[in-house]
Amino acid sequence: MALNPTDLFDIRSLLSEEERMIQDSVARFVDEKVLPIIGDAFDQGRFPHEIIPEVASMGLLGSSLPEKYGCAGLNAVSYGLICQELERGDSGLRSFVSVQSSLCMYPIYAYGSEEQRMQYLPGMARGEIIGCFGLTEPHGGSDPANMKTVAKKDGGDWVINGAKMWITNGNLAHIAIVWAQTGDGIQGFIVPTDSPGFTAQVVHRKMSLRASVTSALFFDNVRIPDSQRLPNVKGLKGPLGCLSQARYGITWGPIGAAIASYTSALEYAKERVLFGRPIAATQAVQLKLADMARRITLAQLLSLQLGRLKDAGTLQHSQVSLAKWNNCRMALDISREARDILGGAGITTEYPPIRHALNLESVITYEGTETVHQLVIGREITGINAF
Ligand code: FAD
Repeated sequence: MALNPTDLFDIRSLLSEEERMIQDSVARFVDEKVLPIIGDAFDQGRFPHEIIPEVASMGLLGSSLPEKYGCAGLNAVSYGLICQELERGDSGLRSFVSVQSSLCMYPIYAYGSEEQRMQYLPGMARGEIIGCFGLTEPHGGSDPANMKTVAKKDGGDWVINGAKMWITNGNLAHIAIVWAQTGDGIQGFIVPTDSPGFTAQVVHRKMSLRASVTSALFFDNVRIPDSQRLPNVKGLKGPLGCLSQARYGITWGPIGAAIASYTSALEYAKERVLFGRPIAATQAVQLKLADMARRITLAQLLSLQLGRLKDAGTLQHSQVSLAKWNNCRMALDISREARDILGGAGITTEYPPIRHALNLESVITYEGTETVHQLVIGREITGINAF
């Protein structure tokens, strides 16, 4: 029996029936609702916000959080599969869901008070309250300890001053999870974006993640009550804990982008006839396609084992770093190579590889650049911090 070209090791057989059902329903949604519009949205530099209600009604926002807060209570592998299928559509759509789920809902759940959870999580799961996550600052995202945004206590309030850069959903958001230096270490705040002194400015001229909103945030004496502070975490471990959640999902997402690019190249190669035979019949093209299939298979196994470790509660953050590095690099290389197999046709967004390749330039940079994750692994295996 011929093997499935996008699942050579029958990894699907390692999934539970529920996990398979979730993957299938998100895959259907992406095929029917995302693929028909995403090329145009990317060309126009527009996030397709009209699909938020359906994304929410499918339970894809904060999908791993408990049902008590209006969420689906799914396991980590299911969250990964959701990310994979969404990114088969577009990295921008997966980024929207990652930010809402892992970077905004997760910190409210993990570090917030019960009142904050009840106030925000059900509305966020319904897609009525959109969040953004402000950690990176203009002077350097790889070194978040060097944070210049400050929050000063003033009676029962906090007054925030500073700026954040490259913030996904910034101009869409109703609330921003903002990390700031306080007299007592870095703390997180839930800042309503209609607070006086808060402004968000869209980043224009992006060549990557064009179907996603990216913004700069400015805080000019933004005053919020202490009830908006996340009470249960202090220090860099707060934002880093959120990033570990999001990066876990990001290890899965690029598998979807890689599958979309590889499938497109595979179909094209079987039909494009040059020198009297399809280019898929040449050794050079088969080598490229076989290498794509090999790297996708490895990435699938890596993320699945990562998900099982996460569900077992034994996941280490450096394991996430290795998978984020490997899977982003895999997908970026595959989408560029797929673009090449399409020849001239590969340079337009009529076909998905160039859109994925451009998007993956962001995915390999955000949530820790490739170099940062390589240094995490270097530190893990040598015991020496080389940052
Ligand atoms: P820098 O940190 O200035 O890095 C520049 C270069 O230096 C990189 O190549 C890096 O690998 C290298 N480098 C860094 N340290 C070392 C070292 N020790 N040794 C050798 N080389 C090193 N941030 C948020 O907070 N929220 C978001 O929602 C968000 N969304 C984003 C969306 C997009 C589209 C993009 C592009 C970014 C987003 N980011 C977000 C920011 C992202 O996380 C940062 O861009 C990233 O962490 C890198 O920071 P930087 O851009 O300042 O680059």
